[in-house]
Amino acid sequence: MNLEFAHHGAVDGVTGSCHQLGLPDGQSVLVDCGLFQGAETSPSGAGAARLEIEFPLDKVRALIVTHVHIDHVGRIPHLIAAGFRAPILCTQASALLLPLVLEDALKVGFTRDQVLIERFLDRIRQQILAVPYQQWHTLIDGDLGLRFRLCPAGHILGSAYVELDAREGAQRQRVVFSGDLGAPYTPLLPAPKPPYRADVVVLESTYGDRIHESRKRRRERLQQVCEHALANQGTVLIPAFSIGRTQELLYELEEIIHRNRERRAAPGVSWEDLDILVDSPLAADFTAGYRTLREHWDNEARRKLTAGRHPLAFEQLTTIDDHATHLRSVEYLSRSARPAIVIAASGMCSGGRIVNYLKAMLGDPRHDVLFVGYQAAGTPGRVIQTYGPRGGYVELDGRRIDIRAGIHTLGGYSAHADQKDLLNFIGRMRVKPRQVRLVHGDEGVKETLARLLRERHPGMEVVVP
Ligand SMILES: [Zn+2]
Repeated sequence: MNLEFAHHGAVDGVTGSCHQLGLPDGQSVLVDCGLFQGAETSPSGAGAARLEIEFPLDKVRALIVTHVHIDHVGRIPHLIAAGFRAPILCTQASALLLPLVLEDALKVGFTRDQVLIERFLDRIRQQILAVPYQQWHTLIDGDLGLRFRLCPAGHILGSAYVELDAREGAQRQRVVFSGDLGAPYTPLLPAPKPPYRADVVVLESTYGDRIHESRKRRRERLQQVCEHALANQGTVLIPAFSIGRTQELLYELEEIIHRNRERRAAPGVSWEDLDILVDSPLAADFTAGYRTLREHWDNEARRKLTAGRHPLAFEQLTTIDDHATHLRSVEYLSRSARPAIVIAASGMCSGGRIVNYLKAMLGDPRHDVLFVGYQAAGTPGRVIQTYGPRGGYVELDGRRIDIRAGIHTLGGYSAHADQKDLLNFIGRMRVKPRQVRLVHGDEGVKETLARLLRERHPGMEVVVP
Protein backbone atom coordinates (compact mmCIF):
# COMPACT_ATOMS: atom_id res chain seq x y z
CA MET A 1 0.00 0.00 0.00
CA ASN A 2 1.42 3.35 -1.02
CA LEU A 3 0.84 6.07 1.50
CA GLU A 4 1.46 9.66 0.47
CA PHE A 5 3.18 12.12 2.77
CA ALA A 6 3.05 15.85 2.23
CA HIS A 7 4.67 18.33 4.59
CA HIS A 8 3.15 21.77 4.12
CA GLY A 9 5.11 23.41 6.92
CA ALA A 10 7.74 22.88 9.61
CA VAL A 11 10.05 21.56 6.88
CA ASP A 12 12.77 24.22 6.80
CA GLY A 13 12.28 25.32 10.38
CA VAL A 14 10.13 24.74 13.40
CA THR A 15 6.92 26.71 12.75
CA GLY A 16 3.89 26.35 10.50
CA SER A 17 3.48 22.65 11.27
CA CYS A 18 1.08 21.03 8.79
CA HIS A 19 1.39 17.45 7.57
CA GLN A 20 -0.84 15.37 5.33
CA LEU A 21 -1.20 11.61 5.11
CA GLY A 22 -2.90 10.37 1.93
CA LEU A 23 -4.42 6.97 1.19
CA PRO A 24 -3.98 5.43 -2.30
CA ASP A 25 -7.40 6.75 -3.43
CA GLY A 26 -6.51 10.34 -2.56
CA GLN A 27 -8.49 10.60 0.67
CA SER A 28 -6.34 12.14 3.39
CA VAL A 29 -6.02 13.56 6.88
CA LEU A 30 -4.16 16.61 8.07
CA VAL A 31 -2.09 16.66 11.22
CA ASP A 32 -1.89 20.24 12.56
CA CYS A 33 -2.27 23.50 10.68
CA GLY A 34 0.02 26.09 12.23
CA LEU A 35 1.23 29.62 11.66
CA PHE A 36 4.67 30.44 10.34
CA GLN A 37 6.78 32.73 12.48
CA GLY A 38 9.68 34.98 11.64
CA ALA A 39 11.51 34.24 8.42
CA GLU A 40 10.19 30.70 8.14
CA THR A 41 8.01 29.83 5.17
CA SER A 42 6.21 26.91 3.56
CA PRO A 43 7.82 25.03 0.66
CA SER A 44 5.97 27.31 -1.80
CA GLY A 45 6.81 30.52 0.01
CA ALA A 46 3.84 31.07 2.32
CA GLY A 47 5.07 32.80 5.43
CA ALA A 48 4.03 35.04 8.28
CA ALA A 49 2.59 37.43 5.70
CA ARG A 50 0.98 34.82 3.41
CA LEU A 51 -1.34 32.50 5.19
CA GLU A 52 -3.68 31.05 2.61
CA ILE A 53 -4.07 27.29 2.31
CA GLU A 54 -2.33 26.18 -0.89
CA PHE A 55 -3.54 22.63 -1.30
CA PRO A 56 -6.94 21.11 -2.23
CA LEU A 57 -9.20 20.25 0.70
CA ASP A 58 -12.03 18.31 -0.97
CA LYS A 59 -10.62 14.88 -0.04
CA VAL A 60 -9.36 15.83 3.42
CA ARG A 61 -11.47 13.81 5.87
CA ALA A 62 -10.25 15.34 9.15
CA LEU A 63 -7.77 17.60 10.85
CA ILE A 64 -6.04 16.05 13.84
CA VAL A 65 -4.58 18.59 16.26
CA THR A 66 -1.60 17.42 18.33
CA HIS A 67 -1.61 20.45 20.66
CA VAL A 68 -2.80 24.04 20.77
CA HIS A 69 0.44 26.01 20.24
CA ILE A 70 -0.08 28.67 17.58
CA ASP A 71 2.56 27.16 15.28
CA HIS A 72 0.39 24.02 15.19
CA VAL A 73 -3.14 25.49 15.05
CA GLY A 74 -2.81 29.13 13.97
CA ARG A 75 -3.95 28.61 10.38
CA ILE A 76 -7.18 26.82 11.31
CA PRO A 77 -9.16 30.03 10.61
CA HIS A 78 -7.65 30.06 7.10
CA LEU A 79 -8.49 26.40 6.68
CA ILE A 80 -12.11 27.11 7.53
CA ALA A 81 -12.14 30.20 5.33
CA ALA A 82 -10.94 27.92 2.50
CA GLY A 83 -14.05 25.77 3.01
CA PHE A 84 -12.83 23.05 5.35
CA ARG A 85 -15.87 21.48 7.07
CA ALA A 86 -14.52 18.11 8.25
CA PRO A 87 -14.06 17.36 11.96
CA ILE A 88 -11.18 18.84 13.98
CA LEU A 89 -10.07 16.02 16.27
CA CYS A 90 -8.09 16.56 19.46
CA THR A 91 -7.83 15.58 23.12
CA GLN A 92 -10.38 16.78 25.66
CA ALA A 93 -7.98 19.31 27.20
CA SER A 94 -7.04 20.66 23.76
CA ALA A 95 -10.74 20.99 22.88
CA LEU A 96 -11.15 23.24 25.91
CA LEU A 97 -8.08 25.35 25.16
CA LEU A 98 -8.30 25.57 21.35
CA PRO A 99 -11.10 28.18 21.17
CA LEU A 100 -9.08 30.44 23.52
CA VAL A 101 -6.02 30.25 21.28
CA LEU A 102 -8.01 30.82 18.11
CA GLU A 103 -9.95 33.74 19.60
CA ASP A 104 -6.62 35.40 20.29
CA ALA A 105 -5.30 34.54 16.81
CA LEU A 106 -8.45 36.00 15.24
CA LYS A 107 -8.11 39.24 17.21
CA VAL A 108 -4.48 39.62 16.19
CA GLY A 109 -4.75 38.53 12.58
CA PHE A 110 -8.35 39.06 11.37
CA THR A 111 -10.75 41.36 13.14
CA ARG A 112 -11.60 43.05 16.43
CA ASP A 113 -15.33 42.66 15.69
CA GLN A 114 -16.53 40.51 18.61
CA VAL A 115 -19.71 39.42 16.76
CA LEU A 116 -17.71 38.09 13.82
CA ILE A 117 -15.27 36.41 16.18
CA GLU A 118 -18.09 34.71 18.11
CA ARG A 119 -19.70 33.48 14.90
CA PHE A 120 -16.41 32.07 13.75
CA LEU A 121 -15.69 30.40 17.09
CA ASP A 122 -19.19 28.86 17.05
CA ARG A 123 -18.39 27.23 13.73
CA ILE A 124 -15.05 25.96 15.01
CA ARG A 125 -16.68 24.60 18.20
CA GLN A 126 -19.13 22.65 16.02
CA GLN A 127 -16.26 21.10 14.11
CA ILE A 128 -14.18 20.19 17.17
CA LEU A 129 -14.54 16.61 18.31
CA ALA A 130 -12.77 15.71 21.55
CA VAL A 131 -11.49 12.17 21.95
CA PRO A 132 -10.02 10.56 25.08
CA TYR A 133 -6.37 9.50 25.11
CA GLN A 134 -5.57 5.91 24.06
CA GLN A 135 -8.89 5.07 22.38
CA TRP A 136 -9.00 4.05 18.73
CA HIS A 137 -11.45 5.87 16.44
CA THR A 138 -12.38 5.09 12.86
CA LEU A 139 -11.84 7.94 10.40
CA ILE A 140 -12.43 6.21 7.08
CA ASP A 141 -14.30 2.92 6.66
CA GLY A 142 -14.54 0.74 3.54
CA ASP A 143 -12.08 -1.13 1.30
CA LEU A 144 -9.56 1.42 2.40
CA GLY A 145 -9.61 2.19 6.07
CA LEU A 146 -8.03 4.60 8.47
CA ARG A 147 -8.25 4.76 12.25
CA PHE A 148 -6.32 6.79 14.80
CA ARG A 149 -5.65 7.31 18.45
CA LEU A 150 -4.00 10.01 20.56
CA CYS A 151 -1.32 9.28 23.18
CA PRO A 152 0.13 11.68 25.80
CA ALA A 153 3.13 13.63 24.45
CA GLY A 154 4.14 15.45 27.68
CA HIS A 155 4.70 18.75 25.87
CA ILE A 156 1.87 21.02 27.06
CA LEU A 157 -1.45 20.22 28.68
CA GLY A 158 -3.57 18.16 26.28
CA SER A 159 -0.67 17.47 23.90
CA ALA A 160 -0.63 14.19 22.01
CA TYR A 161 1.22 12.19 19.43
CA VAL A 162 -0.93 10.50 16.82
CA GLU A 163 -0.99 6.83 15.81
CA LEU A 164 -2.73 6.16 12.49
CA ASP A 165 -3.54 2.68 11.15
CA ALA A 166 -4.09 2.55 7.39
CA ARG A 167 -5.66 -0.59 5.88
CA GLU A 168 -6.05 -1.80 2.29
CA GLY A 169 -7.49 -5.32 2.17
CA ALA A 170 -5.14 -7.46 4.27
CA GLN A 171 -2.35 -4.88 4.21
CA ARG A 172 -1.83 -2.63 7.18
CA GLN A 173 0.53 0.19 7.95
CA ARG A 174 0.97 2.21 11.09
CA VAL A 175 2.16 5.79 10.95
CA VAL A 176 3.07 7.89 14.00
CA PHE A 177 3.15 11.69 13.95
CA SER A 178 5.08 12.86 17.01
CA GLY A 179 3.74 16.42 17.14
CA ASP A 180 5.94 18.22 19.66
CA LEU A 181 7.30 15.82 22.26
CA GLY A 182 7.94 16.93 25.81
CA ALA A 183 10.98 16.35 27.92
CA PRO A 184 10.52 13.57 30.50
CA TYR A 185 10.69 16.02 33.42
CA THR A 186 8.46 18.78 32.11
CA PRO A 187 6.82 20.33 35.17
CA LEU A 188 3.17 19.37 35.70
CA LEU A 189 2.98 16.74 32.96
CA PRO A 190 3.58 12.99 33.01
CA ALA A 191 6.47 11.82 30.80
CA PRO A 192 5.50 10.53 27.34
CA LYS A 193 5.79 6.80 26.61
CA PRO A 194 7.08 5.79 23.16
CA PRO A 195 4.71 3.93 20.82
CA TYR A 196 4.81 0.13 20.74
CA ARG A 197 5.33 -0.14 17.00
CA ALA A 198 5.12 1.77 13.72
CA ASP A 199 6.07 1.43 10.08
CA VAL A 200 6.75 5.12 9.62
CA VAL A 201 7.39 7.82 12.25
CA VAL A 202 7.21 11.52 11.40
CA LEU A 203 9.43 12.93 14.14
CA GLU A 204 9.95 16.50 15.34
CA SER A 205 13.59 17.43 15.79
CA THR A 206 13.64 20.94 17.30
CA TYR A 207 16.39 20.09 19.79
CA GLY A 208 17.87 17.16 17.88
CA ASP A 209 21.38 18.52 18.44
CA ARG A 210 21.15 19.39 22.14
CA ILE A 211 21.03 17.79 25.55
CA HIS A 212 19.00 19.74 28.12
CA GLU A 213 20.25 20.44 31.59
CA SER A 214 18.62 18.53 34.41
CA ARG A 215 15.45 19.94 35.88
CA LYS A 216 17.15 20.72 39.22
CA ARG A 217 20.10 22.43 37.56
CA ARG A 218 17.94 24.64 35.36
CA ARG A 219 15.76 25.69 38.29
CA GLU A 220 18.94 26.69 40.13
CA ARG A 221 20.06 28.64 37.07
CA LEU A 222 16.67 30.34 36.79
CA GLN A 223 17.06 31.45 40.41
CA GLN A 224 20.68 32.58 39.86
CA VAL A 225 19.89 34.55 36.72
CA CYS A 226 16.93 36.24 38.43
CA GLU A 227 18.91 37.14 41.54
CA HIS A 228 21.81 38.45 39.47
CA ALA A 229 19.50 40.47 37.23
CA LEU A 230 17.48 41.87 40.14
CA ALA A 231 20.59 42.97 42.06
CA ASN A 232 20.52 46.39 40.36
CA GLN A 233 16.82 46.90 41.11
CA GLY A 234 15.53 46.40 37.62
CA THR A 235 12.91 44.20 36.01
CA VAL A 236 13.47 40.74 34.58
CA LEU A 237 11.45 40.32 31.38
CA ILE A 238 10.68 36.78 30.31
CA PRO A 239 9.12 36.46 26.86
CA ALA A 240 7.07 33.26 26.93
CA PHE A 241 4.38 31.41 25.03
CA SER A 242 1.08 32.00 26.85
CA ILE A 243 0.40 28.34 26.96
CA GLY A 244 2.76 25.80 28.39
CA ARG A 245 5.90 27.78 29.05
CA THR A 246 4.18 30.44 31.20
CA GLN A 247 2.62 27.80 33.44
CA GLU A 248 5.91 25.89 33.68
CA LEU A 249 7.72 29.05 34.73
CA LEU A 250 5.09 29.83 37.35
CA TYR A 251 5.37 26.30 38.64
CA GLU A 252 9.16 26.60 38.93
CA LEU A 253 9.02 30.09 40.47
CA GLU A 254 6.59 28.81 43.10
CA GLU A 255 9.14 26.11 43.95
CA ILE A 256 11.94 28.71 44.19
CA ILE A 257 9.79 30.90 46.46
CA HIS A 258 8.82 27.90 48.57
CA ARG A 259 12.48 26.94 49.12
CA ASN A 260 13.84 30.47 49.57
CA ARG A 261 11.07 32.41 51.32
CA GLU A 262 13.42 34.44 53.51
CA ARG A 263 16.30 34.64 51.06
CA ARG A 264 17.03 37.94 49.37
CA ALA A 265 15.83 38.08 45.74
CA ALA A 266 16.83 41.74 45.27
CA PRO A 267 18.20 44.42 47.61
CA GLY A 268 15.66 44.81 50.40
CA VAL A 269 13.20 42.32 48.84
CA SER A 270 12.91 38.67 49.82
CA TRP A 271 11.65 36.03 47.38
CA GLU A 272 8.46 35.92 49.40
CA ASP A 273 7.81 39.60 48.65
CA LEU A 274 9.00 39.73 45.06
CA ASP A 275 6.34 40.80 42.54
CA ILE A 276 5.74 38.35 39.74
CA LEU A 277 3.51 39.57 36.95
CA VAL A 278 1.85 37.63 34.17
CA ASP A 279 0.91 40.37 31.74
CA SER A 280 -1.37 38.60 29.31
CA PRO A 281 -5.12 37.97 29.40
CA LEU A 282 -4.54 34.87 27.29
CA ALA A 283 -1.91 33.45 29.64
CA ALA A 284 -4.23 34.17 32.56
CA ASP A 285 -7.05 32.26 30.83
CA PHE A 286 -4.72 29.35 30.11
CA THR A 287 -3.37 29.32 33.62
CA ALA A 288 -6.97 29.08 34.85
CA GLY A 289 -7.52 26.29 32.29
CA TYR A 290 -4.45 24.46 33.58
CA ARG A 291 -5.80 24.76 37.12
CA THR A 292 -9.18 23.27 36.21
CA LEU A 293 -7.57 20.44 34.25
CA ARG A 294 -5.59 19.20 37.24
CA GLU A 295 -6.61 15.59 36.66
CA HIS A 296 -4.01 15.70 33.84
CA TRP A 297 -1.22 16.87 36.16
CA ASP A 298 1.61 14.56 37.17
CA ASN A 299 2.03 13.09 40.66
CA GLU A 300 4.52 15.68 41.89
CA ALA A 301 2.18 18.56 41.08
CA ARG A 302 -0.74 16.80 42.76
CA ARG A 303 1.33 16.17 45.90
CA LYS A 304 1.97 19.92 46.14
CA LEU A 305 -1.78 20.55 45.98
CA THR A 306 -2.39 18.01 48.72
CA ALA A 307 0.24 19.79 50.81
CA GLY A 308 -1.79 22.99 50.53
CA ARG A 309 0.43 24.70 47.97
CA HIS A 310 -0.88 26.50 44.89
CA PRO A 311 1.66 25.93 42.14
CA LEU A 312 -0.15 28.16 39.64
CA ALA A 313 -1.79 30.71 41.91
CA PHE A 314 0.61 31.83 44.61
CA GLU A 315 0.33 35.03 46.63
CA GLN A 316 2.99 37.17 44.95
CA LEU A 317 1.51 36.51 41.52
CA THR A 318 -0.42 39.26 39.79
CA THR A 319 -2.11 38.82 36.44
CA ILE A 320 -2.75 41.86 34.32
CA ASP A 321 -5.81 41.69 32.15
CA ASP A 322 -6.87 45.03 30.65
CA HIS A 323 -4.75 47.14 28.36
CA ALA A 324 -4.77 50.29 30.51
CA THR A 325 -3.27 48.44 33.48
CA HIS A 326 -0.72 46.91 31.12
CA LEU A 327 0.40 50.35 29.92
CA ARG A 328 0.58 51.62 33.52
CA SER A 329 2.67 48.62 34.47
CA VAL A 330 5.16 49.24 31.61
CA GLU A 331 5.41 52.90 32.62
CA TYR A 332 5.76 52.16 36.35
CA LEU A 333 8.34 49.39 36.07
CA SER A 334 10.47 51.21 33.50
CA ARG A 335 10.72 54.29 35.78
CA SER A 336 10.64 52.95 39.32
CA ALA A 337 13.38 50.88 40.83
CA ARG A 338 10.99 48.23 42.04
CA PRO A 339 12.36 44.79 41.23
CA ALA A 340 9.92 42.46 39.52
CA ILE A 341 9.68 39.52 37.19
CA VAL A 342 7.37 39.97 34.20
CA ILE A 343 6.21 37.09 32.03
CA ALA A 344 4.53 38.18 28.80
CA ALA A 345 3.89 36.87 25.29
CA SER A 346 4.82 36.44 22.56
CA GLY A 347 7.61 34.00 23.25
CA MET A 348 9.66 35.21 20.25
CA CYS A 349 8.92 38.94 20.80
CA SER A 350 7.18 39.17 17.42
CA GLY A 351 4.06 40.74 18.92
CA GLY A 352 2.02 40.88 22.09
CA ARG A 353 2.57 42.88 25.26
CA ILE A 354 6.23 41.92 25.67
CA VAL A 355 6.99 44.35 22.81
CA ASN A 356 5.86 47.37 24.87
CA TYR A 357 8.08 46.29 27.75
CA LEU A 358 11.03 45.79 25.41
CA LYS A 359 10.56 49.18 23.79
CA ALA A 360 10.52 50.84 27.20
CA MET A 361 13.27 48.82 28.88
CA LEU A 362 15.80 47.42 26.39
CA GLY A 363 17.78 50.67 26.41
CA ASP A 364 18.28 50.62 30.19
CA PRO A 365 21.09 48.50 31.70
CA ARG A 366 19.11 48.05 34.93
CA HIS A 367 16.72 45.67 33.20
CA ASP A 368 17.28 42.17 31.91
CA VAL A 369 15.68 39.92 29.34
CA LEU A 370 15.67 36.20 29.98
CA PHE A 371 14.98 33.87 27.06
CA VAL A 372 13.67 30.46 28.01
CA GLY A 373 12.29 29.29 24.68
CA TYR A 374 13.34 28.66 21.11
CA GLN A 375 13.83 31.83 19.04
CA ALA A 376 13.15 31.22 15.35
CA ALA A 377 15.37 32.88 12.73
CA GLY A 378 14.07 36.29 11.68
CA THR A 379 12.13 37.01 14.89
CA PRO A 380 13.00 40.03 17.08
CA GLY A 381 13.68 37.49 19.85
CA ARG A 382 16.47 35.89 17.80
CA VAL A 383 17.92 39.32 17.00
CA ILE A 384 17.92 40.41 20.66
CA GLN A 385 19.34 37.07 21.77
CA THR A 386 22.11 37.15 19.14
CA TYR A 387 23.11 40.83 19.03
CA GLY A 388 22.07 42.04 22.49
CA PRO A 389 25.06 40.60 24.36
CA ARG A 390 27.40 42.37 21.84
CA GLY A 391 25.75 45.75 22.34
CA GLY A 392 23.73 45.58 19.14
CA TYR A 393 20.28 46.88 18.32
CA VAL A 394 16.84 45.61 17.34
CA GLU A 395 14.00 47.14 15.36
CA LEU A 396 10.63 47.04 17.11
CA ASP A 397 7.55 48.61 15.47
CA GLY A 398 9.85 50.35 13.01
CA ARG A 399 11.98 51.92 15.75
CA ARG A 400 15.65 51.16 16.26
CA ILE A 401 16.42 50.35 19.88
CA ASP A 402 19.98 49.99 21.18
CA ILE A 403 20.19 47.08 23.56
CA ARG A 404 21.74 47.97 26.91
CA ALA A 405 19.69 45.63 29.09
CA GLY A 406 21.28 42.36 30.17
CA ILE A 407 20.42 39.46 27.87
CA HIS A 408 20.38 35.88 29.16
CA THR A 409 19.36 32.57 27.69
CA LEU A 410 18.42 29.56 29.77
CA GLY A 411 18.89 26.96 27.07
CA GLY A 412 17.87 24.00 29.17
CA TYR A 413 14.40 25.38 29.69
CA SER A 414 12.30 23.74 27.10
CA ALA A 415 9.04 21.91 26.80
CA HIS A 416 10.68 20.00 23.95
CA ALA A 417 12.38 16.63 24.05
CA ASP A 418 16.16 16.89 23.62
CA GLN A 419 18.43 14.72 21.47
CA LYS A 420 18.52 11.88 23.99
CA ASP A 421 14.72 11.92 24.42
CA LEU A 422 14.15 11.91 20.64
CA LEU A 423 16.56 8.99 20.16
CA ASN A 424 14.81 7.14 23.00
CA PHE A 425 11.38 7.76 21.46
CA ILE A 426 12.52 5.68 18.47
CA GLY A 427 15.01 3.40 20.27
CA ARG A 428 12.53 2.27 22.92
CA MET A 429 9.84 1.23 20.46
CA ARG A 430 9.32 -2.52 20.64
CA VAL A 431 8.94 -2.83 16.85
CA LYS A 432 11.12 -0.21 15.15
CA PRO A 433 9.90 1.77 12.15
CA ARG A 434 11.36 1.07 8.71
CA GLN A 435 11.28 4.79 7.98
CA VAL A 436 11.68 7.95 10.09
CA ARG A 437 10.86 11.31 8.53
CA LEU A 438 12.46 14.25 10.33
CA VAL A 439 10.50 17.50 10.39
CA HIS A 440 10.26 20.52 12.66
CA GLY A 441 13.93 21.41 13.04
CA ASP A 442 16.60 23.66 11.56
CA GLU A 443 18.62 22.19 8.69
CA GLY A 444 21.85 21.22 10.49
CA VAL A 445 19.92 19.92 13.48
CA LYS A 446 17.92 17.46 11.39
CA GLU A 447 21.14 16.22 9.74
CA THR A 448 22.75 15.62 13.13
CA LEU A 449 19.76 13.66 14.38
CA ALA A 450 19.51 11.74 11.09
CA ARG A 451 23.15 10.65 11.36
CA LEU A 452 22.70 9.39 14.92
CA LEU A 453 19.53 7.49 14.03
CA ARG A 454 21.27 5.84 11.04
CA GLU A 455 24.23 4.85 13.24
CA ARG A 456 22.00 3.27 15.87
CA HIS A 457 19.52 1.63 13.52
CA PRO A 458 21.43 0.57 10.37
CA GLY A 459 18.39 -0.88 8.56
CA MET A 460 16.24 2.18 9.12
CA GLU A 461 15.62 4.69 6.35
CA VAL A 462 15.92 8.23 7.71
CA VAL A 463 14.41 10.87 5.45
CA VAL A 464 14.77 14.63 5.76
CA PRO A 465 11.93 15.90 3.51
ZN1 LIG B 1 4.48 23.10 20.77
